[in-house]
Amino acid sequence: MAINNNKGRKPNSPQGPGKGKPRNSTSWILYLLLALVLGQALFYFGGSQAEEISWTRFRNSMLGSGDVERITVVNKEQAEVYLTPEALTQSKYAEVDSSASGPHFVFNIGSVENFSDAIDRAQEQREDQPPIEVTYESRTDWLGTALSWMLPIIIIVAIWIFIMRRMRPGGMGGGGGNIFDIGKSKAKLFQKGQSDVTFKDVAGLEEGKGEVKEVVDFLKNPNRYTKLGAKIPKGVLLVGPPGTGKTLLARAVAGQAEVPFYSISGSEFVEMFVGVGASRVRDLFKKAKENSPSIIFIDEIDAIGRSRGKNAALQSNDERENTLNQILTEMDGFGTNTGVIVMAATNRGDVLDRALLRPGRFDRQIYLELPTKTERRAILEVHAKPLRLAEDINLDTLSAQTPGFSGADIANLCNEAALIAARRDKEQVEMKDFYDATDRIIAGLEKKSKIISKGEKNIIAHHEAGHATASWYLKHADNLLKVSVVPRGRSLGAAWYLPQEHVIYTKDQFIDRICAALGGRAAEEIMFGKVSSGALDDLEKVTKQAYTMVAYYGLSKEIGNVSFYDSTGRNEQSFQKPYSEATAQRIDEEVSRLVENAYQRTLDILTEHRSELEELAQLLLKKEVAFKKDLEAIFGERPQEIEA
Ligand code: ADP
Repeated sequence: MAINNNKGRKPNSPQGPGKGKPRNSTSWILYLLLALVLGQALFYFGGSQAEEISWTRFRNSMLGSGDVERITVVNKEQAEVYLTPEALTQSKYAEVDSSASGPHFVFNIGSVENFSDAIDRAQEQREDQPPIEVTYESRTDWLGTALSWMLPIIIIVAIWIFIMRRMRPGGMGGGGGNIFDIGKSKAKLFQKGQSDVTFKDVAGLEEGKGEVKEVVDFLKNPNRYTKLGAKIPKGVLLVGPPGTGKTLLARAVAGQAEVPFYSISGSEFVEMFVGVGASRVRDLFKKAKENSPSIIFIDEIDAIGRSRGKNAALQSNDERENTLNQILTEMDGFGTNTGVIVMAATNRGDVLDRALLRPGRFDRQIYLELPTKTERRAILEVHAKPLRLAEDINLDTLSAQTPGFSGADIANLCNEAALIAARRDKEQVEMKDFYDATDRIIAGLEKKSKIISKGEKNIIAHHEAGHATASWYLKHADNLLKVSVVPRGRSLGAAWYLPQEHVIYTKDQFIDRICAALGGRAAEEIMFGKVSSGALDDLEKVTKQAYTMVAYYGLSKEIGNVSFYDSTGRNEQSFQKPYSEATAQRIDEEVSRLVENAYQRTLDILTEHRSELEELAQLLLKKEVAFKKDLEAIFGERPQEIEA
């Protein structure tokens, strides 16, 4: 059962959201229809089964001939005719069931006066025969009357129920039951053994695993900690970029804690109705406390836990704040030894409200980062295990060539490689499939069908050759893997680097990267004397890089050792810059100076190595892709290959 993604719902989940509901609602409607049909049938057929005849037939063929024994007039409308036993034996009444006690015929009388006159006249004419007994009766058709006033009510109630069901929280598929359940928490409950993820499925993340394993231990053996006077933490917050395994870690806890595990996503608290979020929080904590020891897991807590703004006019989302306040209150409300631990995950740790992070609430914060090379290898191992791998697979190389990949990216890479191999009708997944999958994940799908004119191709080849040449001769530029002019995704060509995984960057490293990014445009200028629009992506990157250098990292002498970065994310909504107009102008000037200097430097490098640049461009025009060995054939050994 997945916590966050919507695949697979365990049928035996105790709170299996909305399970069987659709079937229930259809059967409801079916029952209703059945009842209606039955009612109708009773109404029509339950009463007399006598044949209906016309007044004329009655008068002409029955009344005069003395066949009629008695007549009952019901509700002044209908006459029920009972025949004499002798008459019943006659052939003209063959269709009448002679054994039936009657009435044998019915007809509508029109008006009572006319009817009784006619009967009287008939009696007078046949004085010799026994008189016809006429009785007047008033009968109530209980069933019909009841149905006639109940039917509209039933229909209205049915429509009302139908509308309420449609309006229930979570819409069609969601849990929650009917409208009265809207304030109930929609958390999914995992009982012992219901999550199939264990700590073994989580590769790397040793520190994170250590921390959450301790959480499991807190719940299992609280005495070990409390007897020394320690308080058990109430909340654990997992912070990290998307795909780093936060949800996975929580699922592993669910799998191994052996206590009830309530999982909910932050956005599920908030509904279109006011007050629902807070009431759901209350309900969730109530349930968790009733079943303690237990764990509550709130995924994407930033949906409700964003810092509450000071500026009320700009903050329209009161409901979100109420929900957050309720969480804060609940977390304060239960004692440290209640046996409920709240876990939460977010990839926006910076925007969370400070009140959430203070000790006593989420007092443990686990930072998950993008995996390092060794961790990537471990994750690759987990995800490559189910694949049928060829001999040539080298996980070390793969982990080295996937810097910046998150755990989710690596899972995707393995799957994508297997899909590519299957498409090629291979028996095993080979290294080449992995390489192609990497390219595809990084740059998107190859678009061989994209029509590019010869002139444009020439510009693209020189542009990419420019990047390659510049970075080859720049000391701190990343190692080049390959250069390609095959259009992919939105890009027309690309130089593939193997970025270094530094923790800090020096000013020189930044500048070398900027120069490498400007290599494309510089090559265009040198080779064609004019520039094209093809450098949009590069220039965007360069501009951002330069602004971060100047305004955030304090790497410009002119601006000095100041940083205008706001790690709290509070200024997101304010329109004010934290510096004066004069400083803004100086920052702009500084950025422009920095980029211009870098551009000049790139021009110089490329002019110096113009012949190699041209050679590489021609190779690209011919072969579309140039690998490292092709580059070495042109440029020679790279002067300062950076250690990977
Ligand atoms: P998020 O941090 O965004 O919650 P998830 O935990 O949902 O990320 O991770 C998505 C997928 O990525 C997981 O289902 C798993 O397949 C894979 N993954 C991420 N990190 C790891 C890891 N450390 N080990 C194994 N698989 C991982």
